[in-house]
Amino acid sequence: MAPSVGFIGVGNMGNPMAGNVLKTGFPMTVFDKNPGAMANLLQAGAQKAASAQEVVERSEIVMTCLPASPDVEALYLEPGGLVERARPGMILIDLSSVLPSTPRKIEPAAKARGVHFLEAPVSGGVSGARAATLAVMVGGDPQVLERARPVLRALGPNIFSVGPVGAGNTVKAINNMMACVNSLAMMEGYVLGVKAGLDPMTIYDVVKASSGGSKALERIPTAIIPRKFEPGFKVQLMNKDLETFNTIAKDLHVPVSFSNVAQRYQQAALAAGLGDQDTSVVLKIIERLAAMD
Ligand code: NAD
Repeated sequence: MAPSVGFIGVGNMGNPMAGNVLKTGFPMTVFDKNPGAMANLLQAGAQKAASAQEVVERSEIVMTCLPASPDVEALYLEPGGLVERARPGMILIDLSSVLPSTPRKIEPAAKARGVHFLEAPVSGGVSGARAATLAVMVGGDPQVLERARPVLRALGPNIFSVGPVGAGNTVKAINNMMACVNSLAMMEGYVLGVKAGLDPMTIYDVVKASSGGSKALERIPTAIIPRKFEPGFKVQLMNKDLETFNTIAKDLHVPVSFSNVAQRYQQAALAAGLGDQDTSVVLKIIERLAAMD
């Protein structure tokens, strides 16, 4: 019989991921501190829990998808938290993007109680979460991953076993730094092109067929031209991921440049009150710097 799965944190990313786990046939219990976030999943057949603790009581595998390290550490490690409530043999999987130090604190605490823990940050955005095409970067015991694989497979086909806990969130931070820098380069080029009088779709078509293209370019028709800035992926979360990258760089004494530049733009967007909008909204900051309306 399929193991029962619990899902805690069903926001922009967790919601479609939980939906796909449910569709695959796993009985599911969900909890989010924002009750409205669960509505579609309850309609699709998930059971509602009144607390995270209730999710643990009803599940064999529990997945979490929360904003950042403080949320994850509080949920797992505080008295009465997931680690304390979990039964020996259970598997806890955190899908959030956090500091590598967070899973490194959780795993030994879980192990001491006979509970398995994996970190499994994901990439591919909300569209990838809906389409079940995410990349999943698993840090932790590969044997536990094999037990959890059928559930993780519901999120996407590319499941990578990348090393001990901490390694998953390290590679995730590297990916997001690269994605953010590509995206900023695209937006700066785009704003300059428009100010120079080029047609926006000409910029897109030419660069797509040339050497400057990247996945970020696809935002030109989907977000930049229609000026669709609802998340998606919030500025505040991208800022957090760049902070993670910079923290790892400082710990390892790796002098880095591009992540600092990229973070300056997220900071400017935060200062402008745009933190809850999609990270594409940084376009507005670049336009302001170029004195463009
Ligand atoms: P979000 O803010 O849309 O969702 C987070 C959800 O967690 C919210 O619904 C919130 O109510 C809930 N929550 C927070 N604390 C909780 C708690 N203690 N108990 C229960 N529910 C709680 O954020 P998101 O975009 O879904 O991102 C979640 C994580 O996934 C972040 O770490 C983010 O960096 C990562 N991520 C996001 C994307 C994306 O495109 N949005 C892509 C890859 C990775």
